[in-house]
Amino acid sequence: MENTEIIKGLQAIVGAERVVTNEAAVAEETKDAIGFRRYERADGVFDVPQALCAVKVKSTEEASQVLAFLNANKVKTTPRTGGSSVTQGIEPVEGAVMLDGSEITGIYKIDEVNMQVTTGCGMPLQALEDQLNAMGYTTGHSPQSLPLAQMGGLVATRSIGQWSTLYGGIENLLVGLEAVMADGQIIRIKNVPRRSTGPDLRNLFLGCEGTLGFITEVTVKIFKYKPDERWMCAYQIGSMQDGLDAIREIMVEGYRPAVVRLHDPAEVMTLFGGVAEDGKALMLFLADGPKAIADATGAGVDAIVKKHGAESLGTKPVESWIETRNNISNELEETSEQMHDMGTCVDTCEISASWSEIGEIYKAVCARAEAEMENLIVIGGHSSHSYINGTNIYFQFLFQVTEEHTVKEDYMHVIRIIMEETLARGGSIAHHHGSGKYRTAWMPQEHGSSYPLMYKLKEALDPNGILNEGILLV
Ligand SMILES: Cc1cc2nc3c(=O)[nH]c(=O)nc-3n(C[C@H](O)[C@H](O)[C@H](O)COP(=O)(O)OP(=O)(O)OC[C@H]3O[C@@H](n4cnc5c(N)ncnc54)[C@H](O)[C@@H]3O)c2cc1C
Repeated sequence: MENTEIIKGLQAIVGAERVVTNEAAVAEETKDAIGFRRYERADGVFDVPQALCAVKVKSTEEASQVLAFLNANKVKTTPRTGGSSVTQGIEPVEGAVMLDGSEITGIYKIDEVNMQVTTGCGMPLQALEDQLNAMGYTTGHSPQSLPLAQMGGLVATRSIGQWSTLYGGIENLLVGLEAVMADGQIIRIKNVPRRSTGPDLRNLFLGCEGTLGFITEVTVKIFKYKPDERWMCAYQIGSMQDGLDAIREIMVEGYRPAVVRLHDPAEVMTLFGGVAEDGKALMLFLADGPKAIADATGAGVDAIVKKHGAESLGTKPVESWIETRNNISNELEETSEQMHDMGTCVDTCEISASWSEIGEIYKAVCARAEAEMENLIVIGGHSSHSYINGTNIYFQFLFQVTEEHTVKEDYMHVIRIIMEETLARGGSIAHHHGSGKYRTAWMPQEHGSSYPLMYKLKEALDPNGILNEGILLV
């Protein structure tokens, strides 16, 4: 079908004013927050495939009609909501239509009896949290992108928040949803506390990254919000491995502080202004109320970390982390311009592994990056989401841009090291940002013999392959 015909067809469904065709405005719709692209943008270069247009749907019915039309005409489609992807998740293929759900918004129902809230896919998480907090509730979901992300994208990426060790990731919070399939069919997964009626179909959408359907409505759990009843404390500890061992013991003994963070010496320097002694790692803990549980959790954590040689630094470092923890979400453009002016590129990449492997992965990645990249300024990381059987490492890296390689080549060099060292030790190459496009090449190794199931799902749910080509499937 001709491009003009596609645009006319979309305009007939949603109205001309909600089909964006202006080249610069369409490019805005495809902008995510990935490091090498931020660097390139600061120089005015935006070298990514151009979408044909963006269509801003306002309702499930509109999304259904739009997808039915695009599917019938085999038009490549890229779903998006908040646009805070850090993995090229909203990068279109050339000529694709951006399906923008950010206007399917609003809080549809706060159910205080059954402790759940239902919203549109374009509901900004920050606005939802603000309203719930004022009523004495929280979603328990607090990613660093709280000021940017919206409910559809949060489900589609299997996101996780900074309070996860108590509340879990979005997979633990999602109750039910509504979605539009590639052919326009509307489906609903009802809200129940649990059921045993076959495979859990929510998992088709949790982490689908827009490849299997378009989420239009989301119901998540809510919890009592008791910030005044929290316990918190920071500690310095001898090394990353000492900190990992202490966190393992906390989890194994059954304590569930909401925040469990371990920052390596590199991050202590770069992010915390040397609050801990040189060469030591920093631990931040926060246990959420009710007070009796928070205090008991705090006492348990305190005893365990001290057994591992930690020394208390009081509550101040936790308080200032709470205060500033999401600032980067509002300062992305400014920060990338500064980095560009200094000729440097910065970004992050997160992985997970079991307790027996995670410390080795951390060491191997840092050692290899330092040995292989002359232009590396710093690599470090932290653990911020822990489980009884393992944890994540969130690597942060900064390198000097040189004339020898493109920014993307150097960027992918660091990523390749992280992917290879993680896979070599049986870890997972993405703990919470999703696979996006830059990790796709490693997906066969990530999934091993179960990978063909991904293709079977795709063939069954999106047989024309219109949804988010290049993500998850090589
Ligand atoms: C500064 C910063 C900090 C971050 N911190 C965290 C963090 O702490 N935890 C975390 O998990 N993530 C974090 N992220 C990553 C990002 O915020 C999450 O991936 C978030 O879930 C994306 O939501 P979004 O609404 O912005 O989605 P988008 O960026 O619009 O889309 C993300 C992906 O989901 C798909 N998608 C979007 N909407 C839909 C829909 N309605 N139906 C189907 N597919 C859809 C898109 O195609 C894309 O693949 C951070 C990002 C930034 C920039």
